[in-house]
Amino acid sequence: MTGTLTIAGLGPGSEALVTPEVSAALATATDILGYAPYVARVAPRAGLTLRPSDNREELQRAAEALRLAAAGGQVVVVSSGDPGVFAMASAVFEALERVPDYQDLPIRVLPGITAMLAAAARAGAPLGHDFCAINLSDNLKPWAVIEKRLQLAAEADFAIAMYNPRSASRPEGFGRALAVLREAGCGERLVIFARAVSAADEKIEIVALSEATPEMADMRTLVIVGNSQTRRVGRWVYAPRQAR
Ligand code: SAH
Repeated sequence: MTGTLTIAGLGPGSEALVTPEVSAALATATDILGYAPYVARVAPRAGLTLRPSDNREELQRAAEALRLAAAGGQVVVVSSGDPGVFAMASAVFEALERVPDYQDLPIRVLPGITAMLAAAARAGAPLGHDFCAINLSDNLKPWAVIEKRLQLAAEADFAIAMYNPRSASRPEGFGRALAVLREAGCGERLVIFARAVSAADEKIEIVALSEATPEMADMRTLVIVGNSQTRRVGRWVYAPRQAR
């Protein structure tokens, strides 16, 4: 059989948020590659080889996936959420650029529900007006770039979704990000801390930015900073459809 490479998003955690298209791809896969906790979400079965790897090995993983597909495998690379959002789809295309021999392989990217959308739905509608998304990890870009983008997003009055806010290896960045937004005059904006959305230990906290502390976020948290018009109605938070 001809090999194929599928890059699939597993959604934020709950089985109910895996799309039928992704489930079908997993059901016919011969090999599944990805960061170990994501591969662990796929049930083992006969005929399927699970190939978990470390978080920092994206390009090697992508190259291995291409090799396995070229050798005839039905290969699926899994990401959490959506594979195109701070995840493996870009890494696969980067690997493909390096090995033009594989460019005729049938490749598909299957979307998933990204953390930002799952988190927004829990809070209400904080992304109902213009917004942007930023990865706060400075593993792959300089911190100065993050700071500049935050300043400009605040100035443009976007709601801001923040991925990878804080990890053990990067304890300082998120506090600095909050300080940048405070200095940009966003102290009264609402901030949503959405942790482990759709998992059993899900937790949603909503505070004013002036009251937000770095400890409120970890690597399983998606943070949404509202725009200047974002407000509460009952237990919900929403961005009105009209800007001032
Ligand atoms: N491709 C993924 C994002 C990978 S970056 C997606 O589309 O969702 C990993 C970051 O995503 C985490 O640090 C966290 O900020 C966020 N994240 C992933 N799953 C989450 C969940 N269930 N709840 C809250 N945030 C989540």
